[in-house]
Amino acid sequence: MKRREILKGLALLPLTSSLASKASAFAATTPTPPKPPARDLFKELGVTPVINASVTMTFLSGSLMLPEVLEAINSTSHDFANMYELQDKVGGKIAEMLQVESAMVTSGASCAILLSTAAAITGTDHEKIRLLPNLPGPQPEVIMQKTHRYLFDQAVTTTGAKIIEVEGNDEMEKAINERTVMALFFNAAGKSSITHEDFVAIAKKHNIPTLLDAAADVPPVENLFKFQKIGFDLVTFSGGKMIRGPQSAGLLFGRKDLITAARLNHSPNEAPIGRPMKVNKEEMFGMYAALKAYLDRDHKKEWQDWLDRTKHIGSQLETVQSVKTETVVDPGPANAFPSLKVTWDESKVKIKPEEVVTALKTGTPSIVANGGKDHLTVGVVLLRPDQIDIVAGRVRSILQGAV
Ligand SMILES: *Cc1c(COP(=O)(O)O)cnc(C)c1O
Repeated sequence: MKRREILKGLALLPLTSSLASKASAFAATTPTPPKPPARDLFKELGVTPVINASVTMTFLSGSLMLPEVLEAINSTSHDFANMYELQDKVGGKIAEMLQVESAMVTSGASCAILLSTAAAITGTDHEKIRLLPNLPGPQPEVIMQKTHRYLFDQAVTTTGAKIIEVEGNDEMEKAINERTVMALFFNAAGKSSITHEDFVAIAKKHNIPTLLDAAADVPPVENLFKFQKIGFDLVTFSGGKMIRGPQSAGLLFGRKDLITAARLNHSPNEAPIGRPMKVNKEEMFGMYAALKAYLDRDHKKEWQDWLDRTKHIGSQLETVQSVKTETVVDPGPANAFPSLKVTWDESKVKIKPEEVVTALKTGTPSIVANGGKDHLTVGVVLLRPDQIDIVAGRVRSILQGAV
């Protein structure tokens, strides 16, 4: 766990302050608002466009791809590519950028967990690859800490492997046997009974490959380098969270022999278990462009932009009587960025946080925010620059309407 920063007592901006002067700073790291499209497919299909004042969520289409990503996809859409060659070249570049032996683009972190497990089971044995998940013989075992069990570990058991739960170094050491194929560390688990370093050391002593799932764990950008340095054999991040690549993409990187085996278990090969998790050239070029843009970004400036956003929205909301706001930074490791916590005196502003959430969601445009028992959380990092004042205005008018 890192810090929990609460930045209180933010100075009020002039109430009339326009965002126009700030728009250029915001625009630097955020997709620009679209011109009205020639053909509006949202309208044509009757799909509601949503403003995401929360965090990246798969059901809400991940994040908005960066302009660099859209450009990478569009500019490469006119030619075919050999997918083996493309994965070689893109993987090579990504490995170079992340200072690891090898890397690949998957269809997401979930896919990366499945492919890692498959790779640990099969190696480069074509017969085993063909048979997965119905390998004859003893069931392969993957070690996880009890407190690290999570929904996404179904990607482990999909391969036919069984999860062995352990607590503490001794149990981990004792659990390792000839059926053990991998040890999985969920980086954002609330509690760990084994440190990253010990987990790696125990696994290495017994020659068991380790995978670390850090799907949602940037920012900070340093996390893209931290875990391979600790010694994890494989690391995965989602492409469609704060790296802002295609949501149907992810990164898997680390040891060359394991990445080679993971690729044999994946599309474009026809038969393996990973074939239904196909990745095409759009995701490959897009993921490469997204990672490059993410690494090249001025992260300090982006962080300041986020703080400016919370401050700006906060100052507008505090014009409603009894409303107080503060910038809160999630301690992470997942979603470790600022958002705005909004509270009010319910005897003066007669509405509950969940009711504000519902009003935001069912209004036009539809806005997704989060409500706690006693507060509303307005996320700012996924807003387009032109949406900042829309969100501020809507929350303000809902609160004002309840006075
Ligand atoms: C989002 C997430 C995943 C799934 O990632 P996808 O890229 O959507 O497949 C897996 N693990 C954790 C911890 C996540 O946050």
